[in-house]
Amino acid sequence: MSSSLELITIGTELLLGFTLDTNGAEIGRALANIGVRITRRTSVSDDPDAIRDAVSGALARTGMVLTTGGLGPTADDITKRVVAEFFGMPLDFQQEIWESIVARFTRIGRVPSAANRSQAEVPRGGTVLPNRWGTAPGLWLEGDPGIAIMLPGVPTEMRMLLEHEVVPRLSARADGTIIRSRTIRTAGIAESSLAERIGPIEEELKPLSLAYLPGTHGVDLRVTSWNLPAAEADRRLLEIAVVLRQRAGEFVFGEDDDDLARLVLDAARAARVRIATAESCTGGLVGGRLTAIPGSSDVFVGGIIAYDDAVKREQLGVPSSLLAQHGAVSEAVARAMAEGAAALLGVEASVAVTGIAGPGGGTEEKPVGLVWFAVSVKGVTSAARFLVPGNREDIRARAAQMALFNLRKALISAGA
Ligand code: AMP
Ligand code: MG
Repeated sequence: MSSSLELITIGTELLLGFTLDTNGAEIGRALANIGVRITRRTSVSDDPDAIRDAVSGALARTGMVLTTGGLGPTADDITKRVVAEFFGMPLDFQQEIWESIVARFTRIGRVPSAANRSQAEVPRGGTVLPNRWGTAPGLWLEGDPGIAIMLPGVPTEMRMLLEHEVVPRLSARADGTIIRSRTIRTAGIAESSLAERIGPIEEELKPLSLAYLPGTHGVDLRVTSWNLPAAEADRRLLEIAVVLRQRAGEFVFGEDDDDLARLVLDAARAARVRIATAESCTGGLVGGRLTAIPGSSDVFVGGIIAYDDAVKREQLGVPSSLLAQHGAVSEAVARAMAEGAAALLGVEASVAVTGIAGPGGGTEEKPVGLVWFAVSVKGVTSAARFLVPGNREDIRARAAQMALFNLRKALISAGA
């Protein structure tokens, strides 16, 4: 039997948006690893009715609930009291826990306050999950309503208790299955066009599931295997990954955490060339992506941010006649920028980006989002035009990713 539970993250700050619910994301990943499925995640404020409501609903649906937050010493920390009451368990003051809290404070040269005493209260019959990383112990209650696991909200304490106390207990109850995902990363193709290329895949996919996840880096195809033994999950994920890669074809650039900038550097090493950039609308983002990768200096030499036409002319040697005739956002200028950067910096490969990031500056003929890319590798220059969607920030980020995508493609053909 595979197990499932509901997750409740507690804290008014989460609903106000001041604190990001990172606990929810971390717990999701950790539990998927051991095959525990989170069927619902709820966030509630530090309000007794809201907490009771969420906990009782979760237990009615799945019989098991995991909460984070509200275990601190202050008046707004009420999770333990509310859940213990729901389980019909009175709170007992435990001297042993109190002494460990006092000892912890003493070590850091402080004295616990009266409010901390509440952290030594344990619901009768519940199991304490000792917290060596902070003062609020976690709790594991089993009773008629089901199982309630309570963890503190402080992310480091939550993480350590999850790893050391909760995951081992849940694993022991689980059946050895896991939830595992594999991601095929694409760029340069819109989600709808990608879906068309992939086509109907339900039969081959079963019993896995497929999600299209678009972002400024492109569209990720994430396949997930639910509650299969690890070896079988890996086998099925590999099989479907092969099918997806084949159907998505040239738009696939990698898998899982692959970063195009790193792949560009690898491709340049394989082709034995060094790289320069010429950037207009991306203003250095492409160079930034490349230099973010440790060890990039053996391949990436530098770039010119040619934002103004004068820089395109004087630094990159783009002829005035081209700028006058075609405009800065054009195939001819992109090509001249790429070739100019390679010549100026004395390298064999370069990429150029020139486009209209908006929000102003668009025309009927050249709308906001129009971007020309040119790639020059070993004297062969190619260019491509894209209409990039989004606001200014999106357009610039997407254009940088597309520049890397085009550059890598050319490097791979040159190296092959
Ligand atoms: P608490 O256990 O409710 O006293 O929470 C202590 C602190 O942990 C809060 O002030 C937040 O900064 C942080 N915190 C609580 N819940 C979360 C959460 N779900 N994700 C990330 N941080 C949290
Ligand atoms: Mg709180």
